[in-house]
Amino acid sequence: MHDVIVIGGSYAGMAAALQLLRAYRAVKVIDGGERRNRFADLSHGFLGQDGVAAAEIASTARRQLEAYKTLSWVEGRAVTVTGGKDDFTVTTTDGERHRARRLLFAIGLEDQLPEIAGLSARWGRSVFHCPYCHGYELERGPIGVIATGPMSVHQAEIVSEWGEVTFLTNGAVEVDADQRRTLENRHVLIEPGLIDRIDGVADVVFAGGRQLSFAGLFTAPHCVPASSLAEAAGCALEETMMGIQIQTDAAKLTSVPGVFACGDVARMPHSVTLAVADGAWAGAQLHRSLVWPDA
Ligand code: FAD
Ligand code: MG
Repeated sequence: MHDVIVIGGSYAGMAAALQLLRAYRAVKVIDGGERRNRFADLSHGFLGQDGVAAAEIASTARRQLEAYKTLSWVEGRAVTVTGGKDDFTVTTTDGERHRARRLLFAIGLEDQLPEIAGLSARWGRSVFHCPYCHGYELERGPIGVIATGPMSVHQAEIVSEWGEVTFLTNGAVEVDADQRRTLENRHVLIEPGLIDRIDGVADVVFAGGRQLSFAGLFTAPHCVPASSLAEAAGCALEETMMGIQIQTDAAKLTSVPGVFACGDVARMPHSVTLAVADGAWAGAQLHRSLVWPDA
């Protein structure tokens, strides 16, 4: 019987595990190894680790966790959750059963990208969602913002801080007169053509063959939890402007007693920094629930 099973051993899950291990708690981390940023080589904007490989940040953290004797680590996916507060059972793909008094979901999000030929192959390389993470490297070159819905107007406005933006509405949004004025004030060009495919680094080819070339592209994916396990365990979900996340209170407790959630899947907006901070907070709050179980 472990104190905690952390499902998802990336930035948020490891940050939570670290606090619990430092409180001498028995922590089992189950991790499928599919970080959300696995499509990008370098990670930016995390203080002290700016421009470091995303995988290296994770492997350094993992190495530091391994120094604690009360850690056990399972590589694989959790597939079922049963039981309740003080006695949960989690099964993994290999059929093993794992028991713990508390659960923490740090399962991250999956990005549902617009269905445009050539787009997903360039995700994290020349197609991005977060300008703070990837805007600087485009060196103020021309940028295309591919609309996925009404919120994309705001993405085009903010991204125009990083270069000259063409807002590619692609039939996903109708720009009204007010929005047109706001976009024009920010020198954003509006391109209504329907996109056929992405070529080259970031060349947008329209139906009919016309082409616009950019230094990079931005788009806003619809985000959903990377695993349906939290929902299956009964955790209430909530809708945000970015998609679906697990609902938590200020202590990162979900709607299910004894079950906590942190990181991208339980807050927005999303970054490594924010996932780590959320995880550290969740780890301490979860620890308190072990110390004062009835509080
Ligand atoms: P994740 O890192 O997504 O980790 C979730 C973990 O849970 C994964 O290891 C997964 O395998 C595991 N998991 C899920 N379900 C199960 C299950 N059932 N059983 C076991 N394990 C499971 N942020 C920045 O700050 N800087 C950047 O430069 C940056 N670049 C990005 C580039 C791209 C292309 C993308 C998509 C995102 C980028 N981000 C960046 C955002 C960053 O990736 C996330 O904010 C961060 O990964 C969130 O950490 P997390 O621990 O919450 O979730
Ligand atoms: Mg994590």
